[in-house]
Amino acid sequence: MFRLILCGIIILLSQHSWAKKPTWYVALDPGHGGKNYGAIDPREEGRYEKHYTLQIANKVKNYLKEAGVKVWLSRTKDKPYSLRSRISRASAEGVDLFVSIHINDAYVVGPRGHGTFFLAREAFEESRLRVREFNKEFKGALLKKSYEKKIKSAQAREIVLDLVHQRAQHEAMHLAHIVNQALELYSPHGTRGVKQGNYGIIKGITTPAIVCEVGFLNHPKEGPFITSKEGMDSLSKGIAVGILRYLTLRRKADLNIPQSLSPTEIK
Ligand SMILES: [Zn+2]
Repeated sequence: MFRLILCGIIILLSQHSWAKKPTWYVALDPGHGGKNYGAIDPREEGRYEKHYTLQIANKVKNYLKEAGVKVWLSRTKDKPYSLRSRISRASAEGVDLFVSIHINDAYVVGPRGHGTFFLAREAFEESRLRVREFNKEFKGALLKKSYEKKIKSAQAREIVLDLVHQRAQHEAMHLAHIVNQALELYSPHGTRGVKQGNYGIIKGITTPAIVCEVGFLNHPKEGPFITSKEGMDSLSKGIAVGILRYLTLRRKADLNIPQSLSPTEIK
């Protein structure tokens, strides 16, 4: 019996959306919002991380849309959505990827460079339980509709959900590396590399999820770069190139890459 379930799961996974599909759907999460200000811009009174993450996310959205990718934003205004609400709404939307955008700051001025994070191994179990919780909350929406129809047993559905979650966590590592590498082309202040983190915003989702810290807001040179039009254009281009490169390389996406993102940068 168990073997039969396992065979079924393998067949279903092979038919899952990892294979080529017509429209790719990416969630962008501009960090913070409302009274959750994020890092302070030491050069401009009243300006915070939350303002810049929204501007960068909108620019990334435009690049992705040009390439034919559908985009969902966790916030479009200055609103303080909780991490839980952002990730659970993205899950229910059925997005293919989740990219959270943040800007770092340091207690002691000095550190600089962008870094990209995926979920730490020790946070997997908590993430898995959250996936089950969200799936109940959204009445099974985290499992593809095809699964719901084909798998009658609740136990087997939970096994599939766990497998899809595990696979997403593994893919998140690839997504983090590809996006971080792309950002290196567009961020002149160096990279701090890819790391595993215990971030609430990437826990409880069945699609690859990462956090991009695009640089340090209170660094005397990097801060002004991040907040300039030129810098925001450059960083958002880096994130978009990374996402498109990931979709092309790992998910075999056939995308119309916009001219503004040269094809050589995608391959
Ligand atoms: Zn932040």
